[in-house]
Amino acid sequence: MHQQIRGRYAPSPTGRLHLGNARTALLSWLDIRLRRGVYIMRVEDVDSQRSRPEYEARMLDDLRWLGLDWDEGPDVGGNYGPYRQSACHERYRQALAKLDTFACTCTRKDLAQAPRSHTGEVIYPGYCRQAPCNPDRGSAIRWRVPPGQVGFCDRFAGTVIEDVARDTGDIILRRRDRDWAYQLAVVVDDGAMAITDVLRGADLLASTPRQLHLARALGLPEPSYAHVPLILGEDGRKLSKSHRAPDLSALREAGIPAPRVVARLAQSVGLVDTSVHELTAPQLVETCRQRWGDEGLKQLEQRIVSWDSWGG
Ligand code: GLU
Ligand code: ZN
Repeated sequence: MHQQIRGRYAPSPTGRLHLGNARTALLSWLDIRLRRGVYIMRVEDVDSQRSRPEYEARMLDDLRWLGLDWDEGPDVGGNYGPYRQSACHERYRQALAKLDTFACTCTRKDLAQAPRSHTGEVIYPGYCRQAPCNPDRGSAIRWRVPPGQVGFCDRFAGTVIEDVARDTGDIILRRRDRDWAYQLAVVVDDGAMAITDVLRGADLLASTPRQLHLARALGLPEPSYAHVPLILGEDGRKLSKSHRAPDLSALREAGIPAPRVVARLAQSVGLVDTSVHELTAPQLVETCRQRWGDEGLKQLEQRIVSWDSWGG
């Protein structure tokens, strides 16, 4: 008997889903449906300032409209809940207690001169490792990251190796405003929900060594990772507002049929050719199954797409 495949989409309800989010969601769903696994919707509302229930409701409605369904989630229940991070404090607290941590009082300003990684993130220089620099201030909690290399093989991006202690430094697990940090929450939840397969946008590839390092330190099983390309606009850059690409709600409200959106998203990664104008999400699963059987997504092609003719 082999292990049950469990995958998830984990949106942060801090705005609307743009087409890039929609494509990543569609691909994560498709991969799990192809492999006959369990698909989970997890709402990553750890950021208490930016998360809103209205955004969550809209996102879930939009994803259903697109044709996705989930076996577990905040609105359908399941045995691995809670499915909203705002309800998981106890889980995070227990994980934190297992790690070697320290209080860090550094502000952004204190870290302005700190070295930065190639992605522009601060490499924490360890100012508060012995004692908080400024005991009068509120503090974040950092993990004293153990040295050593962390490596894994991504299904799409290939081999990734990083020395987290050297390239990132000690990681924030709980922020100064008391919110849990995404890095901790995501690792603890993937563990608690027995996630075996993470398929998400390539923007999170750089965070993965940190997350794996943390998962190993917490004694959690390691999921397999697949980072998929982000949608590019006609100028070859990551899709943003300036490309006039509509968000999912806007398409829905404009009366565009969901199968047209699915077809266009599938075309944009080469899953179907440009002659296919409408395709439901279940039809996309069937199309891909004819190609790859039950083994899940194998190959994605990065195509540059013009979003101008959506209305037509
Ligand atoms: N909540 C994260 C986001 O919306 C995704 C986390 C993940 O997929 O690991 O960017
Ligand atoms: Zn500090």
